[in-house]
Amino acid sequence: MTQLHVSAALLGPDYASSGPATICIEDGHIAAITPTGPPDGPARLAMPSLADAHNHARPLSTTSFGCGGKPLEQWLPQLAVTPPVDAYTAAVASFARSVRGGATGVMVHLTRAMGQKPLPEEARDIARAAADVGVSIGFAISLRDRNPLIYGDHDALLEVLAPEVAQLARNTWLKPLPTITEQLSLVDQVASALADQPHVDVQYGPTGVQWCSDKMLLAIADASARTGRRIHMHLLETQPQRQWLDQTYPQGGVAFLDKIGFLSPRLTLAHCVWARGTELVEIAASGARIAVNNSSNLHLYSGRAPLADMQAAGVAVAMGLDGCALDEDDDGLRELRLFHLLGRRPGYSDNEGVTHAAALRAACCTGRAALGLPDGGVLEVGMPADLLILDLDGLDRDTLMPVPAKDLLFARATAAHVVEVWASGRQVVREGHVLGSDLEAAETSLRAAYRAGLPATEPLRAVWLQIERAIGAHYRGCC
Ligand SMILES: [Zn+2]
Repeated sequence: MTQLHVSAALLGPDYASSGPATICIEDGHIAAITPTGPPDGPARLAMPSLADAHNHARPLSTTSFGCGGKPLEQWLPQLAVTPPVDAYTAAVASFARSVRGGATGVMVHLTRAMGQKPLPEEARDIARAAADVGVSIGFAISLRDRNPLIYGDHDALLEVLAPEVAQLARNTWLKPLPTITEQLSLVDQVASALADQPHVDVQYGPTGVQWCSDKMLLAIADASARTGRRIHMHLLETQPQRQWLDQTYPQGGVAFLDKIGFLSPRLTLAHCVWARGTELVEIAASGARIAVNNSSNLHLYSGRAPLADMQAAGVAVAMGLDGCALDEDDDGLRELRLFHLLGRRPGYSDNEGVTHAAALRAACCTGRAALGLPDGGVLEVGMPADLLILDLDGLDRDTLMPVPAKDLLFARATAAHVVEVWASGRQVVREGHVLGSDLEAAETSLRAAYRAGLPATEPLRAVWLQIERAIGAHYRGCC
């Protein structure tokens, strides 16, 4: 039995601020929460840990590879300039940053496998990294079969490029893909390879409607209904995606997904920045949830997700970091604050939008369903012992008078205030340091591996601006 003595805690489904308490942990669960006198030593705040419902386990920030400051449609193909590195080290770095930032559950939408070994073997490396760091992961395997470089006519795009650049673009992005059956079978193979890894939930990971044919989406919907396996997919992240969806499905893209049985409680949709009110109602009615990624939306000029409208439509909203937190540091607490600030309606509306409690529910509780985790995200007897211990002295830096801990959390908290992290009763962070892996060593090793590997992508980097300009011209002209 472990006992944690704290000065305050956010308890129960309403995340109500308590006074001093002792939290007892036994067999991975919260066995008791007892009011006590003020503890000796520094003031601490206990709260549930976060479940990051949309991420890609990226090894290092993509800005370090020159990919910053542009919309998604130009940023995404540019990721081809990042050479592959060791999958285990890459995953350790990403998971260690996530857990240091407060998340004990993380979605891994594997859209860029390293490809240095067969995928089931790479998947085992990633699962081992998650176990070493101490996070549970949703693990969605990328599936795609259309629009590899732009949403539209690739011949027209390639024609404006110099012939040798067009050929390089073909070799890089237009390579033939495995069939739908082969791609689905690969998900089965990964699931078999990870059958003995209870901290991993293998899922179908169609990359987005604009990247998957109707036939593929239908096959995924059927396979999910048959196997019970979850689905994780981007939807309506950007304005060009909105325009493409409307042009391609005049009867309604979301209605199409509903008609083919794609929408269900097994589905998590990332983003939905450009979803309309009627679509949000359809998504809510299906039991699917939406993972909102505010920092990523801001970095990639995607827009602002209609968080308050999602909530009003009854959508189960979760929070994701999408490997692109505001300071590119996987800080889940700063993201939680942003989630609340961007979801709160202005002024004195009857419907105030996303409250503190609603933001905590999204970030700690709702995301767990996306990852296939059992109920939790609440400090209550019987719940999994997934929790954070924060530096309350640091949060209350002025100590002028008693201030509700939740007000301090939502005004100032960052990963720097995380003292301890507990995942299913196992301590995974102490004094702000990840215990199961060496984050600094992993990042140092990755930087060296990238410096050694970057010459291999020099030919692509040399002509990238030409391709980027053509992509920009395509979207400026198409709409
Ligand atoms: Zn994403």
